[in-house]
Amino acid sequence: MRRWNGWGDDATGFPLPEGADAFLSRVAGPSEPPADAALADVVAAVEAGPPSRLPAHPLVSTDAEDRLRHARGQSLPDWVALRGGRVGRVPDGVARPADDADVRDLLRLAGSLGARVVPYGGGTSVLGQLDAPDGDAPWLSVDLGRMAGLARWDPTSGLATFGPGTAGPDVESSLAAVGRTLGHFPQSFELSTVGGWVATRSVGQQSIGYGRIDERFAGGTVEAPAGRLLLPPHPASAAGPDIRQLVLGSEGRLGIVTEAILRTSPLPEVERFGAVFFADWERGVEAVRELAGAELPLSMIRLSTPAETETNLALAGHARTMAALRAYLRVRGAGTGRAMAIVGVAGDRDVASVAAGVAFGILGRHGGIRVPRVGAEWRKNRFRTAYLRNALWDAGYAVDTLETAADWSAVPALLAGLAPAIRRTLAPVGERVHAFAHLSHVYPSGSSVYVTYVFRLASDPDETLRRWRTIKDAASRTVVDLGGTISHQHGVGRDHRAWLPAEKGALGIAAIEAVAAAFDPDGIMAPGVLVAGPERPAREATDA
Ligand SMILES: Cc1cc2nc3c(=O)[nH]c(=O)nc-3n(C[C@H](O)[C@H](O)[C@H](O)COP(=O)(O)OP(=O)(O)OC[C@H]3O[C@@H](n4cnc5c(N)ncnc54)[C@H](O)[C@@H]3O)c2cc1C
Repeated sequence: MRRWNGWGDDATGFPLPEGADAFLSRVAGPSEPPADAALADVVAAVEAGPPSRLPAHPLVSTDAEDRLRHARGQSLPDWVALRGGRVGRVPDGVARPADDADVRDLLRLAGSLGARVVPYGGGTSVLGQLDAPDGDAPWLSVDLGRMAGLARWDPTSGLATFGPGTAGPDVESSLAAVGRTLGHFPQSFELSTVGGWVATRSVGQQSIGYGRIDERFAGGTVEAPAGRLLLPPHPASAAGPDIRQLVLGSEGRLGIVTEAILRTSPLPEVERFGAVFFADWERGVEAVRELAGAELPLSMIRLSTPAETETNLALAGHARTMAALRAYLRVRGAGTGRAMAIVGVAGDRDVASVAAGVAFGILGRHGGIRVPRVGAEWRKNRFRTAYLRNALWDAGYAVDTLETAADWSAVPALLAGLAPAIRRTLAPVGERVHAFAHLSHVYPSGSSVYVTYVFRLASDPDETLRRWRTIKDAASRTVVDLGGTISHQHGVGRDHRAWLPAEKGALGIAAIEAVAAAFDPDGIMAPGVLVAGPERPAREATDA
């Protein structure tokens, strides 16, 4: 069963390894397990709270637990709200359409009631995109879970049409049956969906090989309050501006993606990941920059800072193996300042083998020390590590991430500025923040920078939220000041909205608002996500 207040399935765990307690105490201070609210109590509070303002409808559930389970996503404020039992508003109802006609009916219903609609895919949003819409109009969460699966397969063009609610494992198993892959593997792969990927411009771990979802989304259908948008899957087009690009990253503001036509690749004959350690960060960066510039057919390049490398080794378990690895690396000249790179290849056996040979040759010339088995271990845990969030919370620690991207010329300043700025934030309240980073998606002209930070939970959830907000504000300001984008992959939602104008400019924001108004003239779609919503009073709810 899916956890209602944490990550993933409650039958799956990723306990903290032996020694993790001591490590966390050292870097963030000793902590206590929090006293979390129980599901039954929070459901009872929803039942005792304001009743649904929606009329009875065959597609809409007003069950209290259903409403609770669609009230939040996976951002840290969402966790604090759920774990602390302070959820605030919940949707008035959860709709589960089966096809486009149902979606159109639901949009009409919402329009007639003045209700607000929030599309809900896998619920893995980390930026408040699924939270209560601005204003206090009735809120309809539209769960796309029934519109899932491979609808059409065109073997001649390699195009696969999926329902928006198809989650990662189902996408890959449907495609594997016809010898193909999408190659889109965000860490949230287990739960996130095709519609969510398109709506947030998601990026998978192997994006340098398979491309971001931007490149994989060839076309499809969007049902909007103003009508239906059909996006033909042309391989390329010079027919004016590309409307697909408006749908990508639209975060539910324009309408509901009801079908996505995706470009697929042959299933790789081989897929391998290898690890290389550098004596210091500077050598590692030089190496991966040259590697990215060589434009080899690799599937992944990532490089961890020394702080992240040490954290990964400390939380990897296998204490004896890790001690042996550290000793070996020390002898080879990579002591405490070491930085770990993971490089992936996928595809035809011969091409992958040549690409890996050239890639590890480049890294070796920069002093990279190749270590066997670490890459395979990374692959084994690539989606399981998301479960560490549960274990850290249970031990009394909040963990959150943020990500940006910049040109290579701006990357050093971002790296030098971001984690230290985050570490300083809670000093005034006597708390420490453990922050570390990696270059996660490396491009010829620049790189994304992905930061993880850990801090102690306070006994009062509001204080935990204040700590988070202090960190988030300082980090977002640093990103903007140092020339990074406010998001490389997670999107904007509510948590980044205030920082978007710095990147898009007044004209850019006006253009986004105008597009939203064209698709959704009455402003019923997720007001407050991405850009401020037009505030209109709710109409009286009447029987549909
Ligand atoms: C542990 C963890 C790891 C993550 N790793 C990654 C990662 O590696 N890469 C990455 O890019 N992101 C990652 N994310 C963020 C998140 O998984 C992505 O943003 C993902 O694309 C969201 O998909 P979803 O189906 O869960 O959408 P939801 O969370 O349900 O919705 C996200 C947004 O999309 C809208 N939406 C959903 N479906 C539709 C639809 N059919 N039509 C219109 N709008 C829709 C929603 O209204 C909302 O605005 C991670 C999140 C977590 C919690």
